[in-house]
Amino acid sequence: MSIQTCLRCKGPCVHHNHEGVIIDRCSSCGGAWLDQGELEAIVESRENSQPASMVQETLKQAQAGIPEESQKDQVACPKCAMNMKVVNYAYDSGVIINVCPSHGIWLDSKELEHIEAYRDHWKSEASKRRAEWSEHIRPGSTDGATGSGLLHFLRSLL
Ligand SMILES: [Zn+2]
Ligand SMILES: [Zn+2]
Repeated sequence: MSIQTCLRCKGPCVHHNHEGVIIDRCSSCGGAWLDQGELEAIVESRENSQPASMVQETLKQAQAGIPEESQKDQVACPKCAMNMKVVNYAYDSGVIINVCPSHGIWLDSKELEHIEAYRDHWKSEASKRRAEWSEHIRPGSTDGATGSGLLHFLRSLL
């Protein structure tokens, strides 16, 4: 489904081709609505890398953790009107996204780029350290209670 009105600033949303996936992006604030599965399609099919500066910015954000104001940054799902869950992408990326488990994801301005940068960074780490990591992140290995989200994320990169 597509949305016409931005969930954040009520500006007009337009169809935007992001690496081959059509998303709805607000033309005033840059926020984006992604239907279920579209984020996965983008991160899996992408060919362009984010510049190093974006990777740096993203990693700095990951170290800083969740900013407190994000806790109250809720928006309602445009389809079911439920408040979307505020989630830290890949558990500790520091990229805070809004998720409706049934319908899709809301990303504020630059969050899509931050997610891509985060994946770029870990993907290149993963290719360098595949051997060292493989024992810990092979499918079926026991996830620690705290690390399961990150392990799942790293596995998806290998
Ligand atoms: Zn907007
Ligand atoms: Zn919904």
